[in-house]
Amino acid sequence: MEIKITKTNNPKQMISESELGFGKFFSDHMFIMDYVAGKGWHNARIEPFGYISLHPASTVLHYGAEIFEGLKAYRTESGEIRLFRPMENIKRMNDSAERMCLPKIDENDFLQALTTFVELEKDFVPYSFGTSLYLRPYMFGNDETLGVHTVQRATFMIIASPSGSYYKEGINPVKIMIESEDVRAVKGGTGAVKCGGNYAASNRAGEKASKVGYSQVLWLDGVHRKYIEEVGAMNVMFKIDGEIVTPMLTGSILPGITRKSCIEVLKDMGYKVNERLLSIDELIEALENGKLEEAWGCGTAAVVSPIGRFSYNGKEYDVNDGKIGDVTQKLYDTLTGIQWGKEEDKYGWIYKIC
Ligand SMILES: *Cc1c(COP(=O)(O)O)cnc(C)c1O
Repeated sequence: MEIKITKTNNPKQMISESELGFGKFFSDHMFIMDYVAGKGWHNARIEPFGYISLHPASTVLHYGAEIFEGLKAYRTESGEIRLFRPMENIKRMNDSAERMCLPKIDENDFLQALTTFVELEKDFVPYSFGTSLYLRPYMFGNDETLGVHTVQRATFMIIASPSGSYYKEGINPVKIMIESEDVRAVKGGTGAVKCGGNYAASNRAGEKASKVGYSQVLWLDGVHRKYIEEVGAMNVMFKIDGEIVTPMLTGSILPGITRKSCIEVLKDMGYKVNERLLSIDELIEALENGKLEEAWGCGTAAVVSPIGRFSYNGKEYDVNDGKIGDVTQKLYDTLTGIQWGKEEDKYGWIYKIC
């Protein structure tokens, strides 16, 4: 694929690493390509970062035809810039496209877009451990009509945001509210794909939790309102009486790449990992009789996020006295060690860019 590069005349100064938050500051350029049915993907280009203009009837603005991915470019101490399992993001984005009737992207073209773009923006990959250049590939339907149908035109973009460490003040376990009214997804819907609409519909529960001092919600399944699915926008894992349990992928859960990597690392550490249904009753019982040893969320942004407290129907339950557990800590150290190049990558998960 040919990528036309137009460089900015106004290069930005990278802001100080201690001021980097998440997704607030952007690099100098963006990748764009267009799709038209019958013609396919074309006009791949990298341009100066800036506003884009859309037709007021553009499909994405009315009917939510949007999917995305999230991955990071990491800098090692020796200065190497690398991605973590990028083919997994590429494949998942095409699965999302399939579900949403958006056009797929050739895997090699996608990888080329990512690597060309990251190489051009390499000065925006921060240096300290825990910081990264967050990459956001996304695609939206862009027909210029209000008719509801499979899109004929689409746009694919990649933007990049140098982001600070998720744990600037050390890893502090989060407080989680178990949500029993709103649901995130149902089987047959879009819970298993990364589409913007899932997030829009999750905000109400998140806001309700944050008003009372909780940082995320634990989602239950939409049919029985009984089985644990995810925590906020992360997958979730538990250690109950020595057994590691994570909700099985039933069709309404996002198949996280961090989840998949955690399962492999845990098995290598000698733990048995059970992907199964886990009901809220079983969780509450384990909390009440002290059998819930650890709980954590996992996703690209936080990597591993320990859970220190649950709230359910007005009652509060502490996990491991509100402190990070041993397995959670070991998982965090192993995954971040591989990502930032402090540990050998025996799994072949690292994709070197430059
Ligand atoms: C992205 C995402 C995750 C985590 O996936 P990773 O590939 O590990 O980053 C989990 N749940 C939801 C709803 C997500 O959108």
